[in-house]
Amino acid sequence: MSDSVSEGKLEIKQASKEVKESENVAEKYSAMSGGKMGSDTKLGDFAAVPAFAAVTSHKPVKKQIQFADDKQEFNRFPTKTGRRSLSRSISQSSTDSYSSAASYTDSSDDEASPRDKTQINSKGNSDFCVKNIKQAEFGRREIEIAEQDMLALIALRKRAQGEKPLAAAKIVGCTHITAQTAVLIETLVALGAQCRWTACNIYSTQNEVAAALSEAGVAVFAWKGESEDDFWWCIDRCVNMEGWQPNMILDDGGDLTHWVYKKYPNVFKKIRGIVEESVTGVHRLYQLSKAGKLCVPAMNVNDSVTKQKFDNLYCCRESILDGLKRTTDVMFGGKQIVVCGYGEVGKGCCAALKALGAIVYITEIDPICALQACMDGFRVVKLNEVIRQVDVVITCTGNKNVVIREHLDRMKNGCIVCNMGHSNTEIDVTSLRTPELTWERVRSQVDHVIWPDGKRVVLLAEGRLLNLSCSTVPTFVLSITATTQALALIELYNAPEGRYKQDVYLLPKKMDEYVASLHLPSFDAHLTELSDEQAKYLGLNKNGPFKPNYYRY
Ligand code: NAD
Repeated sequence: MSDSVSEGKLEIKQASKEVKESENVAEKYSAMSGGKMGSDTKLGDFAAVPAFAAVTSHKPVKKQIQFADDKQEFNRFPTKTGRRSLSRSISQSSTDSYSSAASYTDSSDDEASPRDKTQINSKGNSDFCVKNIKQAEFGRREIEIAEQDMLALIALRKRAQGEKPLAAAKIVGCTHITAQTAVLIETLVALGAQCRWTACNIYSTQNEVAAALSEAGVAVFAWKGESEDDFWWCIDRCVNMEGWQPNMILDDGGDLTHWVYKKYPNVFKKIRGIVEESVTGVHRLYQLSKAGKLCVPAMNVNDSVTKQKFDNLYCCRESILDGLKRTTDVMFGGKQIVVCGYGEVGKGCCAALKALGAIVYITEIDPICALQACMDGFRVVKLNEVIRQVDVVITCTGNKNVVIREHLDRMKNGCIVCNMGHSNTEIDVTSLRTPELTWERVRSQVDHVIWPDGKRVVLLAEGRLLNLSCSTVPTFVLSITATTQALALIELYNAPEGRYKQDVYLLPKKMDEYVASLHLPSFDAHLTELSDEQAKYLGLNKNGPFKPNYYRY
């Protein structure tokens, strides 16, 4: 594994070993309802929790945050030329990601840039920049629909009423702006925070949702189809506000963190912590930490069990079929499909494809994942062995150049090629931009690449994440991740001085268990309680954590 992506993954894994979990926090959560950490935790329980009590003083930090190698971390991505050129190119993560991309409002209906418009909401406030504030009512309905499947966040709102664990928190956020994120943002507001928000992806903003949030008083700077210049302008408008300085960062991809550190390093004197969701952003944080340049505590939400084992696996299991169907109308029964990578995402995709009767092959570099694939009933092959015969090729490795021109040349007529991994580097799409090949856009996000002999390969979303680009992802899964993010923010914001150093932390297992327990009532699931005798036998506290830190689920 010699390229930067693989090295980065390795680094994260190594760094993860060093991450320390705070026992104090675990204690706190067991204290939440007199030792019982269940979904029936009551409103007043927060009062008993140190982290939800009065905000402790926070010493300004002196070190400057620095990215080890901007060039490597922020790859160029071609977008429409912006009006002003800012210091660096848009990052990979802002153009590839894995939340719902669906917006019911087409950005093409009004070509004027939101930056050229003056808009005010019904309360006369103009501190936002969205496509069209008039779409607010429609967006509100979308948020209300999402709320129905995000009951854990709604429960958090109810439980913290009166307590306001985020009182005086000033959170600047950079995530996908979708109905699901709106539920998270409005939860943070209900818990006492002031929020300014921007999009981590130039394509994924739901314009009507951005409008609804702006109407409700959240300063949102985002619209679907931003240029590169717009992207950084929006981030800047969120951070650079007279009389308002953030004290918490919620990031997805690391671009916001990078911008603050590059342009406004002094802001870090007030920042109590960073919560980061993505593989890429977490990778950057670990690099900083390793170099001794991280100047505030950070929570790695990406590697929380409640993110990785749910979002990556179940989200992909649910959305792979949707993405393929919407774009190609393909029938899966009897189709030969090769899935590259049998990690969490690959496992989710394969389970769905197998259930519909597809014949699934796996490629893997890791003998453990390869063995898992074998035991799950899949044939593990080299890509070359099956490339001529398969009907669909799906990449989900997090690696680069997994499908190269040589493979594409050998595919049969009509073969569908797509990617479910984070970056659009898994399929070497650039190698297809040669004069002898003709590109035909047959549908939105569907290209036929035609060889001189007439052979067509069906390329989806130009090699970007299929589910982000061509389908939606299930709200319920996002609820689990969003609840984890909310708890991470509350924890970092309220942690007494000294609990967290300038390092990257995983949420304590007990908090992961708490997030899970908040989602169980949706299924009317009933947990079995340990008897005293059983707890003693297993050496466990009856209220958890129920597994050691090294347990892999
Ligand atoms: P993972 O590390 O669990 O799995 C990746 C697998 O790919 C590993 O088992 C690895 O051994 C294998 N691999 C690496 N290089 C390979 C190669 N050249 N050929 C074959 N196999 C190879 O990671 P994951 O959680 O499954 O995530 C995979 C990617 O999907 C990441 O980029 C992640 O950010 C992204 N992701 C996508 C979604 C989505 O909704 N589409 C959701 C979560 C994560």
